[in-house]
Order: sequence, then C-alpha cells, then structure tokens
Amino acid sequence: LPTIATVIGSGTMGPGIAATLARAGATVRLYDISADAITRAEAAYDMVRGVLEAVDSPSAPGGSVTFGTDLDAALADTELIIEAVPEKLELKRSVLADLEARIGDDVIIATNTSGIPISTMAESMTVPARLIGMHWSNPPHLIPMIEVIPGNATAPEHVDRLIEIVKAFNYVPVLEKEIPGFVENRVLYAILRECMALLEEGIVTPEGLDACVKWGIGYKLSVVGPTRLLDMAGLDIYQAVSSYLNKDLDNSTDTPEFIKDKIAAGQLGFKSNGGMYEYGEGDVDAKRKEIITGLIAARKTLASIP
Ligand code: NAD
Repeated sequence: LPTIATVIGSGTMGPGIAATLARAGATVRLYDISADAITRAEAAYDMVRGVLEAVDSPSAPGGSVTFGTDLDAALADTELIIEAVPEKLELKRSVLADLEARIGDDVIIATNTSGIPISTMAESMTVPARLIGMHWSNPPHLIPMIEVIPGNATAPEHVDRLIEIVKAFNYVPVLEKEIPGFVENRVLYAILRECMALLEEGIVTPEGLDACVKWGIGYKLSVVGPTRLLDMAGLDIYQAVSSYLNKDLDNSTDTPEFIKDKIAAGQLGFKSNGGMYEYGEGDVDAKRKEIITGLIAARKTLASIP
C-alpha cells in the first residue's frame, strides 16, 4: 500500500475511496476545488467509516484522511493520485496537466473515469506512462472489486504496482484491455437495455422485473460469475437457448423513448423523488438505508464463504 495517497475530487466517489485506503493503513489526502464539497465530504466520511466498521472490512492501524482545498499540500510526498473529478474529458485533461506540473515523474495517476479511454486522456500528458484506469464501483467502500485498465502508453510496472496496491487493501483487481464503458458497465448496460425493452413493451411490471432480476439473476450471480454459470448450466444448454433467443433480444442503439420522456418531465429517480417509481415523504431516505443495509449484509455473508 502506498504510505501517502491523494484523492482528487470529493464528490460521490472520493470519500469512500479515501476511507477504504485509510482503513487499510494509508495516509490519505482528499482534495477538492470546492470548500463546500470538502464540508460535505467530511460528513460523508463519518458515514462511510460507520459502514466499514459494520462490514468489518480489513483494517490496519495508522491510516488517516485529511481534507483540504490546498493542492500542493495534498500532493506533498504522495505516491499515488486517484483522480475522481466529474466525467468531462476537458476538465480531466486540465486537472491532469495541473497535477503533472506539481509532481515527480514516478508518481502514478489512477483515473476513476467510468469510460473515457485512458489513451485519449493521456494524449495531452507530459508523462502518459503514469496514467492508468482504476475504476471503482459505487459505493466504493462496499464493492470490493476494481477494474484496472492500462492505456496504450501506460508503463507495465505501474500496472503491476496498481494491482499490488488493490490487493493490499483486500479488493479484487480485474485487469482489462481498454474498451468503451469497460467490462462492468458493458455487462450492466446489456442487462439494462433488455430490461428497459421488456418494460417498454409491457411484458412485465417494474416490480415484477425487479423481483425477477434480483432473485433469478442477481442472487445467483453474486455467488457464481457468468463463466462458471455456463459450466453449471452446461454449454449445450447455452447453445440450445442462445441459438433462438439471442436474435430476439433487444439491440437498440439509443436510450428508450419512455426514459427520455421521464427525464423531460423532471423524473430523474431518487434525486427528484420520482423516476421509475414514485416516492413520498421520507421514502427515498428509507430506500437508501434499505440498500446500504442489504449491501452490508450481503457482503458480510459472501465474504464468509471461502
Ligand atoms: P461528483 O460530481 O459527485 O464529484 C466530483 C467532485 O470533483 C466534486 O466535488 C467537484 O467539486 C470536484 N471537482 C471539480 N473540478 C475539480 C478540480 N478541478 N479539482 C478538484 N476537484 C474538482 O462525481 P463522482 O460521481 O464522484 O464521479 C467522479 C468520477 O468517478 C467520474 O469520472 C465518474 O465517471 C467516476 N465514477 C462515478 C461513479 C458513480 O457512481 N458516481 C462510479 C464509478 C466511477
């Protein structure tokens, strides 16, 4: 684990990332350009620490997180920078340039981009070999898997080092080749595309769909991955079904119209008290708690299985 790490951007992802590294023993500096974001991050950090305690995530003494808006102070003697600023290429490029002007050539910069190609981001860099994709899954302090994505120019020793670091805080690193969306989101969006098509065609209700996917797919896939699932089912069975079913699956290339209509009507989900479902007073907070409680319980159970 690096002794000192710096997280740039303390929005949705920053505090959970910082807390995970700190719990494993690193000295972490969480930087944001906005003082308000830092104030919110301090509160989020307390909540995240409670969750890490509840899942009994592996811990080592000596770790800490400090918060601030002074970039030079955040970067002093750092060994690893994790960039988690908003998903806009030009913004990320200017942040990278600003970072590179202040650090030594040996410092690794890991970007938490959800899908901007690492090679594209690295084009404008002085030392493109130091940039590598490190895609955390949200909530980052609960999902113990990280996609590691080298770009064309990433130095192989930085890939090895990042994999070692991820293992050192007891997460599972998944090494991938660069591809739009990376692996996790490609699989998720393939599922979501079919789900939205089934809803649009009125084949199933939202409640029915959620129950079917949660128990029929999610529950099973949380124990065996898709490759092992094929062995369990039998490759011949997969062939028998995929030979007629694959051609019937949705293959649309755009966002479904009914989703666009909801967005136009201001229905965005939890953040607008309504989206796919309607939420009354207090319902969103209750749902958020229910989800975190479920994730904590599931992670503890899954972690206890060898
Ligand atoms: P966010 O908008 O919640 O937070 C970004 C933070 O960056 C804000 O606090 C903002 O003030 C700060 N910021 C803006 N400009 C900055 C600058 N120049 N220097 C320092 N800080 C700056 O974003 P997020 O959801 O935490 O996402 C961050 C990155 O992680 C994105 O690339 C996103 O695609 C990726 N990601 C997000 C999720 C998710 O579910 N939210 C999951 C995986 C990956």
